[in-house]
Amino acid sequence: MNLTTLTACATCNHALTEHRHGNSISFRHPVADHEHEVVPVPAARLPQVFNRCHTCSGELPVWNYRTGLIQIMTLDADVIETYNSHWHVCYPCAQHIEADDVDALTDRCASVMRWRHGSTEYTQLNLLHRGIVLGREGRTLLTTTQWPATRLAAEMLPKTRDRLTGLLRSAADLPPAINDRDARQRLANQLDLAPMYWINEEFTELVEAVSDDQPPARISEELMPTPSGLIAWPRSIGPGQLAAVSWTPQLDGWQLIGYRTIGTALPEHLMPALRHEIGWLLPAHAEHVPRRASIDGNHPLGPLITTWLLINQQMAEALPAKLPKGTTRAYQRSNRRLPDVRIVRIKPRSSTPGSRSTKSDAAGCRAKPDHRFWVSGHERQQAWGPGRTLRKPIDIQPFLKGEEGLPIKLSTTVRVLGNRSAGSDS
Ligand SMILES: [Zn+2]
Ligand SMILES: [Zn+2]
Repeated sequence: MNLTTLTACATCNHALTEHRHGNSISFRHPVADHEHEVVPVPAARLPQVFNRCHTCSGELPVWNYRTGLIQIMTLDADVIETYNSHWHVCYPCAQHIEADDVDALTDRCASVMRWRHGSTEYTQLNLLHRGIVLGREGRTLLTTTQWPATRLAAEMLPKTRDRLTGLLRSAADLPPAINDRDARQRLANQLDLAPMYWINEEFTELVEAVSDDQPPARISEELMPTPSGLIAWPRSIGPGQLAAVSWTPQLDGWQLIGYRTIGTALPEHLMPALRHEIGWLLPAHAEHVPRRASIDGNHPLGPLITTWLLINQQMAEALPAKLPKGTTRAYQRSNRRLPDVRIVRIKPRSSTPGSRSTKSDAAGCRAKPDHRFWVSGHERQQAWGPGRTLRKPIDIQPFLKGEEGLPIKLSTTVRVLGNRSAGSDS
């Protein structure tokens, strides 16, 4: 399930608020009704979408605050203005809401609009903010906001993981698909113990180059480096622009969650609070994957499967990461097992670069492929049991064939990856 789909109005290009009533979903214009009816379409179909904080209209929205439907009555004019019941609010505005500081919220928003304290507009805005701050019933983390990507480094992973588990255990709501409280607690407990993998730049480049064309692979324990885990790439990758994916066992399969990063472009003084409260990872794609499900490189979680395949075919090696002393001490103080972070990189060649394709080599070999390509996976019936009369299916996974250093030839393009020395990995 994609958690990043934003819906906008095709007439005015404003991102809309989503209202669920049982199984049905309706949409409203932000803040107050417009003159026209909403025309909800996926935001990706529109050339430009206005998706900003509903109170200050300046920053990217982080939280969806829920209130009753707010109406403001102007007694002397006998007018009732109807507003919304969902409020997409940026991080700075949310700080004022959480502090129950109505006037600070109005001051902040009025100053953006250059409305004077005490003016009619200011008073009206203040009434609306009173309704939001005092009438709020809860808040949900917005996963539909597209943030500029943040770079994740290997030594950041324990903290990144711990902030994610903190978020899962917090009172804040997540999108309905991943909001079940028991499931959130279970996931947090599993992630507490999960090994973390940081894919180095060179390996990420390889995954990115071959992932689009990766043939279907069968999801199984054998394919995964460990039964559960959290993988992070140093930058966003694949069609889903993912920065990380977690996998944890469930009944008959696994829960896979892809994440984007959150929080760049915020005022510097608010960053520590945001990192503490929400962290770095924003869920972007959640899916229950049954055992032996078939996933190819076009799947939103394709880069994870490609990474597993390349690790599985022993193209990569995982080395324990050196963690900052502060991190290990903090874990020891709270009596926690030290975090298990591994840096995954392409295996260095056994011979020195350049010595591989000597003349005698080339002459002595039959026609070796001059490029790398994917070989599809398949199912093989293996004989077993008494007299080997029984058959059980064995999955032969797809693999990337051809020597390292050769260009990668895929369906439509040839990609040549730059060579880097094996030592430059963190
Ligand atoms: Zn509209
Ligand atoms: Zn705001």
